Formats: sequence, C-alpha cells, structure tokens
Amino acid sequence: MTIRQTLRRKLIAAMTTASLFVINLTVFGQAAMTGYSAQAARAERDTEARFARLPSPDEARKHHRFLTSEPHPAGSPRNNELARHIAQVWQQQGWEDVRVHRYDVLSSYPKEVAVEMVAPVAFKASLREDAYAVDPDTSNPRVRSGYLGLSASGDITAPLVYAHSGNPEDYQLLRRRGIDVRGKIVIVRYSNPYSYRGFKALTAEREGAAALIIYSDPAEDGEGRGKVYPEGPWGPASHIQRGAITYDFIVPGDPLTPGWAATPDARRIDIKEARSVPKIIAVPMSWKDARPLLENMNGEEAPRDWQGGLPIKYRLTGAVRVHVKADMDTSVMPNYVVEARLRGAEFPDEWIVCGNHRDAWEFGGVDPSSGTASMLEMTRALGELKRQGLRPRRTLVVCSWDGEEVALTGSTEWGEQFADELQQKAVAYLNVDSSASGPNFQPSAVASLAPLLVDLSRAVRAPSGKSLYEEWRASARESKKTNISDAQLVDVRIGSGSDHTVFLNHLGVPVVGLEFDGPYGVYHSMYDDFYWMNHFGDPGYRYHTLMSVVWGTLALRLANADLLPFDFAAYGRSIGEFVAELQGKPGVKERLDLQAVMRRTSEFATEGTRLTRAVESALAANQLDRQAAARVNQSIRQVEQNWLNPDGIPNRPWFKHLLYAARYTYAHLELPGLTEAVESGDWTVAAEQARLLEAALVKNTALLRQAHDELSKAK
Ligand SMILES: [Zn+2]
Repeated sequence: MTIRQTLRRKLIAAMTTASLFVINLTVFGQAAMTGYSAQAARAERDTEARFARLPSPDEARKHHRFLTSEPHPAGSPRNNELARHIAQVWQQQGWEDVRVHRYDVLSSYPKEVAVEMVAPVAFKASLREDAYAVDPDTSNPRVRSGYLGLSASGDITAPLVYAHSGNPEDYQLLRRRGIDVRGKIVIVRYSNPYSYRGFKALTAEREGAAALIIYSDPAEDGEGRGKVYPEGPWGPASHIQRGAITYDFIVPGDPLTPGWAATPDARRIDIKEARSVPKIIAVPMSWKDARPLLENMNGEEAPRDWQGGLPIKYRLTGAVRVHVKADMDTSVMPNYVVEARLRGAEFPDEWIVCGNHRDAWEFGGVDPSSGTASMLEMTRALGELKRQGLRPRRTLVVCSWDGEEVALTGSTEWGEQFADELQQKAVAYLNVDSSASGPNFQPSAVASLAPLLVDLSRAVRAPSGKSLYEEWRASARESKKTNISDAQLVDVRIGSGSDHTVFLNHLGVPVVGLEFDGPYGVYHSMYDDFYWMNHFGDPGYRYHTLMSVVWGTLALRLANADLLPFDFAAYGRSIGEFVAELQGKPGVKERLDLQAVMRRTSEFATEGTRLTRAVESALAANQLDRQAAARVNQSIRQVEQNWLNPDGIPNRPWFKHLLYAARYTYAHLELPGLTEAVESGDWTVAAEQARLLEAALVKNTALLRQAHDELSKAK
C-alpha cells in the first residue's frame, strides 16, 4: 500500500466518521458517547444492543423462585448452599476465576426471644406472622419469629414508656414532661421520621433504658398507606420488620475484626471492646402485638404528632409493665463471599466491580433476591457475549455478598482483605441491593458518575417502550411534584445501609447504586417473598430484566471506554452545593472561613470542564495515543482516593472520605468531618477539616490539569 492510498483511506474514514456523527446527532438524536471515539462508540452501541437482547424475564423469575424458596439468613445452611449454587451458575455461564471466600464473623441468632405484658392484664406477644392460604410459603415452618440482630441478651421486667420514633428529640420531650426512661422498657415506632433501628437502639442505650421494643405502625407501612398483603403491597397486621441494630455507622463489618479482614486465622478483639455491638436488649414487633401494650397505658396523652395509625389514644406512660427476654447465640460462624471475573482483553488490571448481597431476613423477595435474580441474568448475558467473542476491554468482577443484613459484613471483609489491590485496580463499584419493588428508577452515584447514568438511560428501553430516561423523568416529576433538570435526576447524596459503604467510604472507589422501587410495606418481613413479587412488586419480572440491562450496560460502558467517562465538572458543582449549604447554616459564616474552600472548589470544577473538553476534542479527532490514554485514565482513577483522609473523620477513623459519610441514622451526610464539627460547635476541628478539604481539592485540581496537559501534548 502506497502512502497516497493510506492517506486516501484515512480521509474516507474521517469523512465517514464525521458524517455518521452528524447523522447520529440529527437523525437519531444520539449524542456522542462520553469517553469513546466515534468508531469505538459504534462498536460499543452494537455490543450494548446485543447484550440488551439477552436477559429474559422468564429466566429471572426462575432464579427468583429458587432463591426465595427457603429462608436464607446469613450463616444459615441454606444461605451457604446458595453460595455454592451461585458459584456453580457463574462457572456454567462462562465466568472465570470463580472463588468462594470464607470469613468467620460474630453471629447473632435467637435461642429465645419473648415479650409479655404482666400488668394491668396478662398478654403474651406472639412475635410471629400469620400464614395465608393463598401463599403457601407463609406456612413454611422454617420461618423464624421476630428478633433483632445483635440485640444484647437479658431478662427484664419494667414499666413501659412510649417514646415516639426513639430519636434524641423524643427523649427531650419526655424529659420536659418529667418522664425518666432509665431502667424502663421503651416502645418506639419504626418511622416518623425514619431513622435506622441501630440508631434508635444506641439512643435508648444512651438514655439508660433497659430494653427497646420497635414496632411497625400502620400509619407508616400498613393500612394507613393502602391495601395490605395479600390484597395489596403494604404490611398486614402481623408483619414484623426484622433487622440488625449493629452500630455499623461507627465501624461496619465483623465487630470482632474492625478494620481488618475476618479470615479464619485473623486476630479478634473481645466482644466487650467491640464498638459496634449494642449493649441493650431490643425486639421488633408487629402492630398486632404492640396494640394491647399501647392501649392499656393510662398516663399522659402523647402529643398529636406522636399519635399513630391505630384507633387508640397513644399515651406516654402508665399502668403497663412488660417482661422482655432475649437469649442470643453469639458464636463465631462462617460467612461466604462468592467472586467471579471476566478477565479484560486489554486492561486486565482495571476492574469494574459489581455486587449484590445474598443473605435475607427470611425469603428476601425484594431484599435482596430480586437483586440476585437480576445479577444472575446480567452475568448470563455477559458470559454469552464473551462466548460470542466480545470480551470486555477491562476486567469485570462480580460478587455475591454475605451478612449485609447484619453489619454489611461480607463486602466490608472482602474490601478490607483486598484493600491494596482494589485501590490500585478498581475503577468503580456498581451496587444493587433490592433490584425491583416497583417501576420507579432510583439510582444514586458519586457526582462524577451521575451524568453517565443519565446518558445511558436514553439508550435503554423501558417495558413501556419508551426510553428509561423518559420513564425516569416522569416518575421523578411525579414524586417531587416539580419539573427537575437532568442534573437533579441522580441522587448524589449517598448515605449508608448497603454494600457500597466499604468501597466509597473506606477505599475511595467511586460507587453507583441502582434500584427500581414502588409501594413496599413488607420490608424484612416474611411476606417479602415470591408471592408478593408476583402480585405487586414486579409481576412480569420486566423490571428485574431491565435492571440486568442497565447494570450490565453501565459495567460495559465503563469497561470498554477509551477514556473513563467521569465528569469532574459535575463533581465540582455538587461539592460547591455541599459547601454552600454548610456555609448557609446559622452562625457558620461568622465563625468559619470557607472562602478558600469555595475558591478551590470552583478551580476544581473549572479544571474538570477543561478536561472534559480536551477529552471530547481528542476523541473527536481520533488522536488518542494509547500510552497517553493510559496515563489520563490513571489520573482519572486517582481522583476519588484523593478525597480520603488516612486518619478518617473525627471519632470514626474507619470512614475516611472527606465528602461522603452517613449519619448515625444512616441518612446521607456530606462533608462529614466538617459538618459534624460545625454541628457540635467545635470551630478548631472545623477549621482543621476545612484545611484538609482544601488540600484535597488542590491535589485533585493539579491531577486534572496534568491529565488535560497529557491530552494536549498528545495532539
Ligand atoms: Zn438488602
């Protein structure tokens, strides 16, 4: 081939690329694909289209039936059997390096849990859920009675006090009314407002209560919301929200190995030293069991907003004495994490990690078996692509976590065990806990990945035939009752409560969480099962399948990109919002100078915009040198880790991220070290935290500039 010919071909190729680009933009309304040259984008669209045709609702339903056929809590023989099953399925689907990791962790099983009223009348709470003939699973004798994971053991008889939602302000009100809860048994409801049950336990423990009962009020997840199971999706009278009360907002994972992996030979601390183990007895209850306790009280009437959905007068105290007993088995037992990979064809040491937990309180219809069913259909489709010769450029890693319900245990232990390797290799972690309890798309992501999700949703078709983007916008508009911009679609305020925690907060790996939700009142009860899913949550399994498609497409988009599709200008804008919110709190401006942080934030955002433009023009001109691309990607991957402070946030050293953490209630908490210092009025620590944030912004701005220069040089 002569030089002239080569030139001619290049010209033709360039013209074709350019005209296709125009066609894409104008005729099909498709924008350029972030992180891809025009040629690579065509190949990627083809791969994604082939992938999207593979997941099947029938197959998802079959997986779901199998996963939900028996209760499978962490540490149970059935859940361990499911670990082996998933390992086998992945092997059959063509996944590589299938491994099962064992972690020996503190468990918490009830030997005996009992609640009875001893005065003014005798009543024994059943702590069990009623069976319904229409749903044979509800008669399964292996369903356990209600209990709370990591409750302390003990036996106490004491007067009962109603403390509303069990948050600190509720106890303040009780104190103002002269009511002392020390040594008493406190009964609280789950929500109004919501707080994580472990926070309610810690609050009751700090207040000196002897035991805590948490019940589901019909106003929150029952008749007050709509039709109840088996006629509707909300919780019936006897449903019990099980759950753990672990203080994993202080340090998650196995309580006896805080900060290191619970491998069988690991060093373990004494349970008395474990900061995440509660010291209070706690029991969950249905409103069927709670009603006799509440309606026999005869003391002062509770305030109006403390009145719940039962047709009784809610009172603060009086007449009712209760006996609570919990005898918990806290032996150390194995948990199993299953891991598999599709090794990347070009960059095997760059990983896109996907994960979902396997353990459920009982059948786990929504939580988490819907996610597991979606995952197994996603892995089948990705395995099939590999068989067709379409191996991803980067490595895909997939994990089935254990013990998420107890303390985010499996993901935390795995993350701690492979911390160094993950910090070197992980590009992002894509979490799905529950995949479908309804049709409303509710994703969350670090702000740098939010635009990618919006982008991708335009290319994915929802069951209605519309694009996922259109459905998403419509449901977001409906729930927020206002028109929202694309930038507001993704929730970029990330709290805790699922397996993304170790990746984001401890290791500095960017995360995404995906979920479709809807009316769902049977959370953590035995009614969260196959019947519920087939009648209310996702009867046709179309959203399960849609999840497989969205999740896998996102993984592919990250795995095959020329330049990793992170948007740091968007990140900068979000950080700016976080800082402005804090600055706007009363009294902050006078005591804390955040001007430098603000300036550094906008410098970071500006550099993010410059990098995005440089990436776009390098890709459009098809001028990307392989080595330059590798160096730019290396910088892009470093950004999230630069938000970590090795010392962690004050009093919670395991949580190292300067931008993201969760409150003790599990609610999202931005700029955690800084915000908590401001809220407690510690201006010295606040100034110190502001300096740390400023330093991280400077470091990341320099990193983006370096990536930008790398691209300009390559021209
Ligand atoms: Zn879950």
